Amino acid sequence: MVFLPDKKFGELGTVPDSIPICDFMLDEKYGRVAHDKSRDPYTCGLTGKSYSSREVVSRVDHIARGLAKEFGWKPNQGSEWDKTIAVFALNTIDSLPFFWATHRLGGVVSPANASYSAAELKHQILDSKAKALFTCVPLLPVALDAAAQAGLPKSKIYLIDVPDVILGGTKPPTEYKTVNQIAEAGKSLPPLEALNWGPGEGARRTAFLCYSSGTSGLPKGVMISHRNVIANTMQIAAFEKSHRASSNSPPEVTLGLLPQSHIYALVVICHSGPYRGDQIVVLPKFELKSYLTSIQKFKISCLMLVPPIIINMLRLQDECSKYDLSSVTSLFTGAAPLGMETATDFLKVYPNVLIRQGYGLTETCTVVCSTHPDDILLGSSGCLVPGFEARIMSAEGKEITAYDTPGELVVRSPSVVLGYLNNDKATKETFEDGWMRTGDEAVIKLGPNGTEHVFIVDRIKELIKVKGLQVAPAELEAHLLTHPAVSDCAVIAIPDDAAGEVPKAIVVKSASAGPDDEAIQSIKKFVEDHKARHKWLKGGVRFIDAIPKSPSGKILRRLLRDQEKEARRKA
Ligand code: AMP
Repeated sequence: MVFLPDKKFGELGTVPDSIPICDFMLDEKYGRVAHDKSRDPYTCGLTGKSYSSREVVSRVDHIARGLAKEFGWKPNQGSEWDKTIAVFALNTIDSLPFFWATHRLGGVVSPANASYSAAELKHQILDSKAKALFTCVPLLPVALDAAAQAGLPKSKIYLIDVPDVILGGTKPPTEYKTVNQIAEAGKSLPPLEALNWGPGEGARRTAFLCYSSGTSGLPKGVMISHRNVIANTMQIAAFEKSHRASSNSPPEVTLGLLPQSHIYALVVICHSGPYRGDQIVVLPKFELKSYLTSIQKFKISCLMLVPPIIINMLRLQDECSKYDLSSVTSLFTGAAPLGMETATDFLKVYPNVLIRQGYGLTETCTVVCSTHPDDILLGSSGCLVPGFEARIMSAEGKEITAYDTPGELVVRSPSVVLGYLNNDKATKETFEDGWMRTGDEAVIKLGPNGTEHVFIVDRIKELIKVKGLQVAPAELEAHLLTHPAVSDCAVIAIPDDAAGEVPKAIVVKSASAGPDDEAIQSIKKFVEDHKARHKWLKGGVRFIDAIPKSPSGKILRRLLRDQEKEARRKA
C-alpha cells in the first residue's frame, strides 16, 4: 500500500521544467521574491542591512555578469561541472543572491559546512572538482590550507563579505576579490544572454552539490537538480497554504540561523520562506546573545531550529527571560528527532508557541513530512507534504500495509534527487524508479483527525546526527584505522542530552599501543586535530578484543549499540 498525502500537488505543473531556480524565484510569473514586495526577503540580524525583492533581482544579475567576466563563463556554453563553485562561508544575506547568480550561468554550487577542517574541505573541493572557492575572512585560514592541499591556486579564492562586527576591527586582506567587488564590476558589464534550456533540462541539471553519507559509507556529493529545489519549495508552500490562508496570517519573520550549507536551511529557510513572502533574518551562527537580541529586535514570529538549540533555550532560561520573545508564535524543528520531554518542557515555558516538527533528508531535497498546525500529535514528524508517496518496507523487502508497524520508510517525490556524483553503486542501492530508501525506520499512525502521521522510530542506516549535522561512522573509522594504536574499530552513536547523539569509538588496540589512558587521549586528539568539532569522540573510546562482524565482514553495529545500552543501564 502506498501512503499518500492529504492534498494533491498540481502546483508544480504550472512551472516549466526547463528553468533554473533563479528564474523560478525571481521571475514575476512564478516566484514571490519578485512580486511580493511587502517584506524584504533577506535581512542581516547583526546589522539590520536588508535586501528588498528588487535589490535581490538586480544583485543576482550584477553578480552573474561579474562572475561571467571573472571566469570567462557563458550561460549556454560548457557543462555545469565546468562551472562548479565551492562555498565555505558563514551565513550571510549575500549567499542566496550569489548562489542564484552561479545558477544563472548554468553553474553548480557546492556548499561546505563552515566547521569543516582543512582536510574535510580539501576532500569536497577535489571531489566536486570546484573551479573556485568562495569563503569569508573568519574562515580564510582553513580555506587557504584546504585550497593549497587541493591544488587550487590563491587566485581562485574569493571572499563573501561579512558584517564588520564579525571581523572585530581587523581589516579584510585586499588580495582576494570579494562578491561585492564582483557585483560592482558587473553593473557596467553588458547583459547576459538568456539561458536556453530545453524541456526537462531543469530536472536533469545539478544546481547544488551537498554532501551526505546516505545509508552507508563516506560522505558523497548529492546531485540536487533545479527542479528538485523548485518542487520542494512548492511542496512546502502547498502544505502551508491551507492553514496560512485559513487563518489569514501575514508572511512570517523567520530566523535564518541554521547553516546554509545544510539542506534544511538551504531549501526550507532560504528558498521556501522567501517564495511564500517571508522575511528571513540571517545570523552567521548560533550565539545566544545575538540570537535573543534579533528575535526581540526583528519581532521574529517563526523559529526554524534543530533540537539542541531548543534544549539550550531551556537550560539558559534565566538569560532567555531577559528578552521579549513574545513575537514568536511557532517553532519548527527538524534534522534530528525532538524528544517528547523536551517538547513538553518547552511548552511549559512558552505555552503560546506552536511546536511543529518536520522530517527530511538531503536526498529528498528536504521536507518529506511536516506537522500541520491543526493536527498536532506530539512525537510525530507530521504528515506527508503534497507530491510525496511513501511505503514502509520490512527487513525482508516485504511491503508493510498495517498502521503502527515499523519498517524502512521508502519515498517518491519530484524532489528526490538525481543521485550521488560519480558513485553508481551507492546511487543504485538508494534510488530505484524514483523511489528512495531513507534508511530510517518509521511507523504510520492514524491521528485523531483521520490523517496519517509519520513517526520516525529508529535509524537503520549508518549515520550519527550530532546537533542535526551528519557524522558518517565510515569516515571516522577510516581515519581511526590510520592511528598507530588502532588495529580495528567501529564508531557508533551514543545518546546525548545536549547534542542528540555523539560518536563513540569501539577500538581493538594494536600491539604497539601504549597504556589505555594514553591511547584514549591520543585517539581522541587524533580526531580533534583532523575533523570538524561535531565529529569529535564526545562519546568516548572503549577497547574491545574483536569488533563483532557478519560472515561477510559487515560491522554488527546494532549489537554494539545494544551492548552500550546495556552497559549504561547497569552503570
Ligand atoms: P540530512 O541529510 O543531513 O538532513 O539527514 C537526514 C537524516 O536526519 C534523516 O535520514 C534522519 O535520520 C534524520 N532526521 C531528519 N529529520 C528528522 C526528524 N524529524 N526526526 C528524526 N530524524 C530526523
